[in-house]
Amino acid sequence: MPDFRNVFHAPYYVIHRADFHAALHRRALDLGVRIKLASRVAEYNPQGPSISLEDGTTVSADLIVAADGVKSVARRLVDKTGQRAFEQTGFAAYRATVDVAKMKGDPEISWLLERPSLNIWIGDQRHVMTYTIGAGKSFNMVLSHPDTTDPTSWDRSDALSDMKREFQGWDKRLEKIIGMIESTIKWPLVSGIPLARWASGRIIILGDAAHTMLPYMSQGKCAAMAVEDGVALTCSLSKIESKADIPQALSIFEQVRIDRTSKMQEASLLNGKLWHFSDGPLQRARDAAMQPEIKGEPFSHSPNQWSDPATQMWTYQYDAEAEIERAWQRTGM
Ligand SMILES: Cc1cc2nc3c(=O)[nH]c(=O)nc-3n(C[C@H](O)[C@H](O)[C@H](O)COP(=O)(O)OP(=O)(O)OC[C@H]3O[C@@H](n4cnc5c(N)ncnc54)[C@H](O)[C@@H]3O)c2cc1C
Repeated sequence: MPDFRNVFHAPYYVIHRADFHAALHRRALDLGVRIKLASRVAEYNPQGPSISLEDGTTVSADLIVAADGVKSVARRLVDKTGQRAFEQTGFAAYRATVDVAKMKGDPEISWLLERPSLNIWIGDQRHVMTYTIGAGKSFNMVLSHPDTTDPTSWDRSDALSDMKREFQGWDKRLEKIIGMIESTIKWPLVSGIPLARWASGRIIILGDAAHTMLPYMSQGKCAAMAVEDGVALTCSLSKIESKADIPQALSIFEQVRIDRTSKMQEASLLNGKLWHFSDGPLQRARDAAMQPEIKGEPFSHSPNQWSDPATQMWTYQYDAEAEIERAWQRTGM
């Protein structure tokens, strides 16, 4: 994204998940956090609050933050409706990486590695997103395509050949890179159903447990939303002076974050629709509206949400700490 740092006063990073985990882990240890692995939570108890682990241990705390992902157990505490946590979207994604050393030897595709960038191929009901990760050592690919089959029936041994078939006949350069993929995993793509509350007493859910979404609003938006949650929660808790005020800090946090993440869930769904038109009149209208940006001409709006200036503003100019500050000020405290 040209001018990103100038416009939003921060760089645009893409980070390998393992590197990001390692950085968070190191920071947690520096702060004196004690990490206990292999401790599956069997039950969350709002009274106390406390958790019961599968090995029978009970742990109590002033506040329990549950970031237990898309299949969250804790979500059931705050959502008593019994509804599903997410909807299937009729799409799935193959995820894979290619060793950049293989690509560098081929001038037809090596240009993709020349500078850090995100590249998207959009075609009939499908798209492919690529970017380098791990300080340019690995070429990351996410290949979305229609799939309404039951994920429990998927055979992992077919994934590589199925993936190649899905994108047969696409841009020759893309086919060449896909041909270099040695293994892939297919993931179902789901979109979370927004909740009215994230807190139950002094237990709060966040991250995918609260707001899983399609990875179509800039690939990093899903995990970035979880990171913003963490920043916002820290900021809200920093405003209180006693344990008795924790519920108020949680209430302000959830109001601010439900608003933000619901908008991002909607935008991701919208971008999925725009990118996945079947070949036909809608696809041609979309492509025509994207001509200025493709030609490098100035443009004021785009159906591609990643480059649409208004969407970029609310997406990237957001300041999680400032939003929490403002929400606290509105309470007059
Ligand atoms: C195909 C696909 C592509 C994606 N691509 C990207 C991308 O490129 N960039 C991006 O930013 N995001 C991407 N995401 C989304 C991203 O993975 C999530 O948004 C992010 O991992 C959410 O973090 P989380 O901590 O909330 O949940 P998770 O990362 O799911 O972590 C939840 C953790 O809780 C643990 N857990 C679950 N239940 C229990 C229990 N009962 N007791 C104890 N522990 C438990 C799990 O083992 C897990 O470690 C993608 C997702 C998919 C499906």
